[in-house]
Amino acid sequence: MLDYRKQQEWSNGFGHQQSPIGFLSATAQPEQLTTSLFEWSSPLAVTTVIDRETNFEATGTGNARLLQQPVTFQQLHFHAPAEHQIDGHQAAMEWHFVFQDALGQLSVVACFAELGAANPLFEQLLTHFQSRQTATLPQALPVNSWLPQAGGVVRYLGSLTTPPLTEGVHWYLAATPLTVSVEQLQQYREFFPQDNNRQLQDLNQRRLFKSVL
Ligand SMILES: [Zn+2]
Repeated sequence: MLDYRKQQEWSNGFGHQQSPIGFLSATAQPEQLTTSLFEWSSPLAVTTVIDRETNFEATGTGNARLLQQPVTFQQLHFHAPAEHQIDGHQAAMEWHFVFQDALGQLSVVACFAELGAANPLFEQLLTHFQSRQTATLPQALPVNSWLPQAGGVVRYLGSLTTPPLTEGVHWYLAATPLTVSVEQLQQYREFFPQDNNRQLQDLNQRRLFKSVL
């Protein structure tokens, strides 16, 4: 099992574009896009919940375009507490919607979750999760409502936040948070007591771009 307390030992044969990062939003360069940043071209849905030992992963289906690049939705998984930090703030959770293009290049749309109203999608996943199992959901659960539809987005080039820590991952961080309830987070932490956030990595010379959906 991945041990986040020993993450300094995770081998990283890569260079200077690691994730997650922390930054001040004022340092992100505004960009005016001539096309839409996100197009959720088809209904995206999750169909199974898999125990990944340090969190659970909901595998999915559906097509989208990220910066006009066609991608397929792979899976959604969770980090508690959040991995990225904007303006020094660490949210209660961070949700990673993972996409892949035809060449195998990965993109992650990250949504923060703060404590507040219960989240119906998260509730369904908590209900159907089974320890050490791959649980098939009784019906595919649409996830489009939980993807960013409005608000600010910061994008940058980074890496996977778990081994093999591969670089070349396109990150999109949505500023407008989702919510989960205290009870939901407690239930999740009963399944996964260990924090599963990787520590902040050096920004180095990377540029951050911000736009508004
Ligand atoms: Zn992740």
